[in-house]
Amino acid sequence: MTLWHTGTLAFVLIVFSLGVYLLAANQLYRRFDAGVRTTVEGISRLLAYELVEGESEPQAIHSALNEHYFPDQAAAIFDAQGHLLEEKALPNNIHADLPNRLLLPDGDEIRFLNAPGRNNDNEKLRVATRRVNLTHEKSYLIVVSQGLTEVSNDLAMLRSVFLTAVPAALLLAWFGGLFLARKSLAPVLEMSQGARRISAESLGERLPITNPRDELGQLAATFNELLARLQESFIKQRQFVADASHELRTPLHIIHTATEVILERPQREVSEYQETLAIINEQTRRLNKIVEDLFTLARADSGQRKLEPHDFYLDELITETARAAAVLAGRKKISVEFGETVEAPYRGDEALLRQMLLNLLDNSIKHTHPGGQIVLRLGRTDSTYSVVVADTGTGIPVEAQPHIFERFYRADKARTRSLNENGGSGAGLGLSIAHWIAEAHGGSLNLQHSDHTGSQFRITLPANQVD
Ligand code: ADP
Repeated sequence: MTLWHTGTLAFVLIVFSLGVYLLAANQLYRRFDAGVRTTVEGISRLLAYELVEGESEPQAIHSALNEHYFPDQAAAIFDAQGHLLEEKALPNNIHADLPNRLLLPDGDEIRFLNAPGRNNDNEKLRVATRRVNLTHEKSYLIVVSQGLTEVSNDLAMLRSVFLTAVPAALLLAWFGGLFLARKSLAPVLEMSQGARRISAESLGERLPITNPRDELGQLAATFNELLARLQESFIKQRQFVADASHELRTPLHIIHTATEVILERPQREVSEYQETLAIINEQTRRLNKIVEDLFTLARADSGQRKLEPHDFYLDELITETARAAAVLAGRKKISVEFGETVEAPYRGDEALLRQMLLNLLDNSIKHTHPGGQIVLRLGRTDSTYSVVVADTGTGIPVEAQPHIFERFYRADKARTRSLNENGGSGAGLGLSIAHWIAEAHGGSLNLQHSDHTGSQFRITLPANQVD
């Protein structure tokens, strides 16, 4: 940044200084030449005048050279052949010498040229020559010269001003730029050091926000929001793992205890072995269900469980599922009814939707007393299908209702487990999976109401579901 900024400034300053220098030089030389020109013209005019007035040639030449006052210039008048007639030199050995013949003017224009002086001090002289033709046969050469020292000195001074001022300005810009860059990037450095300190174990840390109103402050705030979201999902993930291992531990513990007890003595009754095997069988079934549910959720979370949609009839799916549930419900003398309604063509993942319905029915069966009733209803509006699962069960406690869709949440852990004989996970995952399936289809799953008379869940699915 500093390099760019100083480079640009250097370019601008150099172009600017060069421009000013050339302009000043041009102006100085022009003024200088104008002064010399005035002297040449004055001498020519006076010479012509004096000669026309009838003065003798030497007298006219003498007055032409001495009448005017030009203290810094040397002047001389030569005849047409280049012989010096009279000259007025300056005390410091500056003479108006006649330039090389080839460089002399032909007409009466004034010709300028630079020539070295007689002193060996490298001083350049500005020499102006003019030919004055009085008659056809009589002409004179007027030469005026002036040292260029003053102009060169002025220009040298200008050069040295630029040569010191430009580098000084650039140096200042360089250090100023470095300082500014350091100062404005300091928060970035601080942020990156802060970010380096943050790890999975310290996701609670946040980046420092120096000024919440500037861009870097906003960047830090955005980063902090991201951290907060990450922290939240990290906590959820950890909770999920902790809950999952807890759920898996219980059946394993039961199996372990049951086998230890049976193996304590070498000989047992057959009925005892059968009892233990029955316990192992039930617990492995439970383990199996939990692992399957966990697998479904894990794949859903990682986006690996994609929907596999195809066309089918929703009413047929509900009829089939209700029939399957009725077998389980029958054991508890619970009736499952599906009052056939409309024909409901639908496009979606049939297997997942079946699982959703089974999870809901499974819960209803688990929480409904013998002799109770489960009713399924299918309705349709222009754009949605709604499936209602209602039971006459125990209901969900009011304080538990907001949490039932959370993973591993159980309203009444002891009771649910003891009732767990219908193949339900009993791990509090059934409703989270059902909820995910409804949402994956662009729909929703809600608890409509639940009290001591029973519970009612409602699934809403967009009717024109496409892939
Ligand atoms: P679980 O696998 O334990 O059934 P769910 O996620 O399916 O877990 O349900 C969460 C909790 O919500 C259950 O433990 C239960 O207490 C409550 N619940 C769900 N459905 C019903 C219902 N129809 N009647 C009463 N309680 C229910």
